[in-house]
Formats: sequence, C-alpha cells, structure tokens
Amino acid sequence: MKLHEYHAKSLLSHAGLPVPPYAVATTPAEARAQAVAFLDGGVGAVVVKAQVLVGGRGKAGGVKLAHSADEAETIAAAILGMDIKGITVRRVMVTPAATIVREMYLAAVLDRANQRILLMGAAEGGVEIETLAEEDPDAIVRVHAHPQLGLQPFQARQMAFALGLGEHLAQATAICRGLVDVMVGEDADLVEVNPLAIVREDGPDGPVERLALLDAKVTLDDSALRRHPGHEAMRDLDEEDPADTAARAAGLSFIRLDGDIGCMVNGAGLAMTTMDLVKRAGGEPANFLDIGGGARSDKVAEAMRLILSDPSVKAILVNIFGGIARGDEVARGLVEARAQQTRSVPLVVRIVGTNADLAARILHEAGGDIVTARTLDEAVERAVALAGQVAA
Ligand code: GDP
Ligand code: MN
Repeated sequence: MKLHEYHAKSLLSHAGLPVPPYAVATTPAEARAQAVAFLDGGVGAVVVKAQVLVGGRGKAGGVKLAHSADEAETIAAAILGMDIKGITVRRVMVTPAATIVREMYLAAVLDRANQRILLMGAAEGGVEIETLAEEDPDAIVRVHAHPQLGLQPFQARQMAFALGLGEHLAQATAICRGLVDVMVGEDADLVEVNPLAIVREDGPDGPVERLALLDAKVTLDDSALRRHPGHEAMRDLDEEDPADTAARAAGLSFIRLDGDIGCMVNGAGLAMTTMDLVKRAGGEPANFLDIGGGARSDKVAEAMRLILSDPSVKAILVNIFGGIARGDEVARGLVEARAQQTRSVPLVVRIVGTNADLAARILHEAGGDIVTARTLDEAVERAVALAGQVAA
C-alpha cells in the first residue's frame, strides 16, 4: 500500500526525524489559511505540493512556491483538480519553503535477493534514482542492515560520510537509522526521502545549516497491515485501482498483468504454475488470481467479474484442484457469473478433485459455450488458441 507524502511524513516525524511542519488542504481557502499561519510565523514563503500517489510531481507542475497568502491560494486552486499522470489531485500540502543548499537521496528498501534491508544513498539528489542507477550506478552508495542487529552505528557513519555529510554527522546517522527503524517498525517495504536536503536557516548568530526531509515516500507491506491497526485508515480508495478494492473486499488475491488470458485458480502455487503453463503454450496471462481454499460460488462469481472488468481479456482459463474447494461450488459460481456477465469471452474450465463429476454435470447442464478440459495441458492449449482466434 502506497502512502501519501503527508502520511509518510507523519510516520517519519513520529520517529523523531527532521520533517518540516506541514498542513494538508482540500480547498484553496484552506490552503490560504494554512499559508497565512506559516507566513505570520515568520516564514518567507511556502511550498504548495500536490498529494498524489505518483512520483515526479515537481516536473508535472504539482510543486510550487508561494510568497504570499494570495499566491498560495491561487496556486492551490491551480493544483487542486489538476491531472498528474492520470490521477486527479484532491489534496495539497502546504509547508514552509526551505532554502536548499544541497539535495541528496536516501532510502531504505527491501532487498529480497539478499534478505536484508538495504540503505541506498546518493550525494546528488533531485535526480530520479532509476535514472542515476542507469547513468552512474557507482554514485549510489549501498549499505545492508544486519537482519538481527539492524543498521550498525558504523554503517550509518559510512553512509553519512559517503554522502558528504561529515559536518552533519549526528543528524545524518540518526536519519539513516531512523529510516531503517521506520522500515522495520511499520512493516514498510520502502521508505524513501528524495530530497533529503541540507537547508539554510536563520539562527540567533547568523545562518545555520541542518538536514531536513523535504519529500517522503513510504509503501507498506500489505501482508503486515493487520499488525498495525492505524495503517488501514491511510489507504486512499480514490487512487486505488477499483479492481484491487473489489478483490480485497471479496478476499481474493488478485494481481493484474499485461496479457489477455484471464486465469482463475485455487491456491497461489497452482496459480503460478498455471501462469507458467500459459506462457509455455505461447499465451500471456492477464492476471494472477487465487480464489483461495473453500471458495463459495459467490466468490467465484466475483472473481469472474473482476477478470471480465479487464477489457484486454480475450479468454478465461479456470483451473481448480478440488480439495477444500469443492468443484460443484466453483461450477455453480461460474454458471451464475456466466448468466450475469455483460461481455462474452470464451471460457475454458478444468476442474479435478472433490466433486469434479458433479461440477462437470453442472457445467454440462448449463449448456452454452463453456469448454471443459480433462487435463491442465489441454485446458491451457484451448485457452491460448481461443484467445488467439479472438485476436485474429
Ligand atoms: P516529487 O517531484 O514528486 O518528487 O516532489 P518533491 O517533494 O521531491 O519536490 C520536487 C522538488 O521541488 C524538490 O526536488 C526540490 O527541488 C523542490 N522543493 C521541494 N520542497 C522545497 C522547498 O521547501 N524549497 C525549495 N526551494 N524547493 C523545494
Ligand atoms: Mn521527491
């Protein structure tokens, strides 16, 4: 689950990291009032930032400086409702503008291959990390946190020096360790700060420089959401793919892919095997869908609706190995969904195991154009062939 910048910043701020103050507005008037509060507090300018779950808001015109309340209101009015990469901006963040001395990149990511949290830094920020990784991979500093001991103090110092932050050592090491702590404590799989900045501020004895987290991106591990009662409230249903929302409500594991063969399978392992076989037969799966064990007919019907909601689906392959899941329940769900569907797509069904005979009878009696297959190979071949015919 991706978090908005303001939610990400609240987590980082709770962890004691230097996040500048911010407010969130849904109307230009509200943004104006927040700007007034900051400007009256002695801030020279504010930044108005679109809150959408995509990167590159700055380039898209979603991050703007305002020097007065009027300007903040005008800018907020322009950004609210703006379309950024297909997403409508519904909220803006208002935050004091920082005087940036230097921008850096720092992120904690899950390194699955090494089974560790990886802290990645780059002394040159502002650039997208993907671009940097391609053009100048050596510019990225990598430090792996120890699985039990976490990020060791020497590792944090190593990163701080590599980023040229010797003069800000205490703050820099605290930030390094803080990102890893948030990663672990919140069960995140990404905690990214881009830019982490050296900012200049007026102190009692003249200008002082310190570090500040000017942008933040956090994605949470969906499987761990139940361990954090407060996290679900941070979900933004407006920006979530409706198919994902429907799948979650129905208790289905569903991941949309690029192909044209919709797959409905029980069990994650069997679902992956089915996708492999589709690929081997020359087809491309349109999704991963695990209806789970013991799925009843209504869940099957919902799965069918989900698959059909993807306009690129040209054929559907149902592969059920009846154990706890009963073949007849699945067959009933398929027939029910078939009767309700608004779009007709070839359907190939292979059901074996518990109540497979009954399932076959139900599908047969329903008549229509449901193709039943005896073996998985046969089912896959038929589905791929039928999808190909539709394309032709
Ligand atoms: P992103 O484009 O979605 O990653 O949004 P960011 O929050 O990273 O903002 C983009 C850029 O705007 C940053 O890299 C900064 O250069 C600039 N920016 C953001 N906040 C401030 C600020 O407080 N002061 C100044 N001067 N620039 C800022
Ligand atoms: Mn950024």
